[in-house]
Amino acid sequence: MEIMDGKELAKKIRTNLKEEVEILKSKGIYPKLAVIMVGNDKASAVYVKNKSKACNEVGVTYEEFLLKEDTTMDELLGLIQKLNQDTDIDGILLQSPIPKSLDIEEAFRTIDPKKDVDGFHPVNVGKLSLNQDCFVSCTPYGIIKMLETYHIPIEGVHAVIIGRSNIVGKPLIQCLLNKNATVTICHSKTENLEEVTKQADILIAAIGKPEFVTANMVKTGATVIDVGINRKEDGKLVGDVNFEEVSKKASYITPVPGGVGPMTVAMLMTNVVKAAKNRK
Ligand code: NDP
Repeated sequence: MEIMDGKELAKKIRTNLKEEVEILKSKGIYPKLAVIMVGNDKASAVYVKNKSKACNEVGVTYEEFLLKEDTTMDELLGLIQKLNQDTDIDGILLQSPIPKSLDIEEAFRTIDPKKDVDGFHPVNVGKLSLNQDCFVSCTPYGIIKMLETYHIPIEGVHAVIIGRSNIVGKPLIQCLLNKNATVTICHSKTENLEEVTKQADILIAAIGKPEFVTANMVKTGATVIDVGINRKEDGKLVGDVNFEEVSKKASYITPVPGGVGPMTVAMLMTNVVKAAKNRK
């Protein structure tokens, strides 16, 4: 069994991007990311900090816009439109969740697709499904990058995803399909889940339930990708996969922390640099 080191791979990606950014800067192109956060979600604050650290390391200029919990939709959309027009800004990221009183889908739709480095705008979602050049949602993008780096075959194999969210599960279907995998997607209404997951050559868990995937759900020799980030009552950070059990059965597995999480941030940086190159 081999542990897929997302932390190390993400570091390599950042190092390569740093060199690329230096070249861009010598040509007068200064990549810049704007991050909008609404309210005081604690987990979001940690994610945003990681993104700002990565920008710093890669040489991307980072600007944060912290909006109050009681921000109106008009105020949020007004800020997004302002950032759309700001020629210094290459990428705009709206950190989710935002307060329930606001319509996050409308906010995502308002971001200029050319600056949509999270790949959540319907234009980018549509292009991904047509296998056209676009901004790919960072977590699925990072998962594909990890599979490719570890030379794990995707073409022709059976990939099973648990979780159908717009940010992970659904775009991952397209990413895997574009690489010629046979894809099955499961969710909370799936019957006989274990029977389905046991068929997976590549099993991806994006559920949000601590240690949900147990050894009996996994085929011997499978590659297991754990997207989940869950804080247990004792404060320990765990994924959606029971690492202890499953690692004995899998041939490759991602750890939590240090797997998909850092890759997601590295792919965000990749998308910001791409946006800067596209625009200038
Ligand atoms: P969502 O809550 O949006 O989606 C969870 C999905 O899991 C849903 O499709 C749901 O089904 C499905 N599900 C829930 N319970 C079951 C069950 N018993 N059996 C089968 N399927 C089930 O989650 P996200 O996709 O946003 O996030 C998933 C996890 O990944 C979270 O822990 C999150 O923190 C983490 N995450 C990590 C990232 C990273 O960079 N590492 C990035 C994004 C998320 P249904 O649709 O039927 O409700």
